[in-house]
Amino acid sequence: MTSILVTGAAGFIGSHFARYWVEKYPDDHVVALDALTYAGVEENLADVRDRITFVHGDIGDSTLVGRVLAEHGIATVVNFAAESHNSLAVLDPRRFFQTNTMGTQALLDACLKAEVERFHHISTCEVYGDMALDEEQAFTEDHPYRPRTPYNASKAAADHAVRAYHETFGLPVTLTNCANNYGPYQFPEKVLPLFITRSLRGERIPVYASKDNRREWIHVRDHCRAVEAVLKGGRVGETYHVGTGFELSVDEIADLVLGELGLSQDRKTIVPDRPGHDRRYLLDCARIRDELGWRPEIEFEQGLKETVRWYAEHRGWWEPLYDRSPVVEGALTRS
Ligand code: NAD
Repeated sequence: MTSILVTGAAGFIGSHFARYWVEKYPDDHVVALDALTYAGVEENLADVRDRITFVHGDIGDSTLVGRVLAEHGIATVVNFAAESHNSLAVLDPRRFFQTNTMGTQALLDACLKAEVERFHHISTCEVYGDMALDEEQAFTEDHPYRPRTPYNASKAAADHAVRAYHETFGLPVTLTNCANNYGPYQFPEKVLPLFITRSLRGERIPVYASKDNRREWIHVRDHCRAVEAVLKGGRVGETYHVGTGFELSVDEIADLVLGELGLSQDRKTIVPDRPGHDRRYLLDCARIRDELGWRPEIEFEQGLKETVRWYAEHRGWWEPLYDRSPVVEGALTRS
């Protein structure tokens, strides 16, 4: 039995991870910490609520975090907490650096003080920056960081801070940089649920002008399994990429969603690209495969089918969230 703190646990991936962990390790004590920003939905944890401890709080609040770490004897911290919407970062960069960079640094301090046994940090493929559409070499864990948006830069800075706390202070850290996640409970502002929920409401779907830009897709459950593999067998101080090698352009995603719902392709509206929009990211995942034997298990076709069905059957979950995002896609202007 061990105690594990999951930050950002009311968000998309954090809630899946908390659920995955209590179901797989029922003897462990999961403490879920979340600031419940517009993107945090406590209801995401409803089915496991009686098996976890939920704390409403900010990772940047060192006093609160210190108390939680001590009170629950936390051994492992998995940091999912972040401002995660790239488009919002164009409008309000400060809140991204506040949480993603400074919040992570405050959390690192608290973890160092509490002498946690492992600090695992969740990062993204986007820290590496733009990749050409015809590039044949995927990003390895040694690739230089070249973030081009405030979200990516704030996540890159956090990654550097995590590694610095390991090198300088000996904090036992691991990191994972993951590709684009999809699955149930993803906030309707993100591209796949945006396309699904708009289609379900009979609305048109906004496709960026650079519609050939591609993303690598992974089911959220495969991501959770990868984090588990790193917590169980990963080398301290090491970074592991988590991806599938399966890429789709934004236009292909739109067509697949419309096809799944039996709708015509003329439902697409082309909108201007987001500033700093990267063409592509692709991760080389040889390390996690070779060292830890992790492999993605969920085929995209099946995962997408189930995800579209989940949104169709859970309107009561996403309808109240629909207008909560501060961003209107296709109308990005800074005030
Ligand atoms: P999300 O926006 O759905 O969830 C983030 C959660 O963090 C929310 O519940 C929010 O309330 C909480 N939060 C925000 N600021 C906080 C703070 N200061 N203190 C405590 N909690 C706070 O995001 P997500 O898609 O689940 O992403 C989770 C993590 O995974 C992020 O670190 C993100 O960068 C990373 N990631 C996401 C993807 C993806 O495709 N979604 C891919 C790679 C990496």
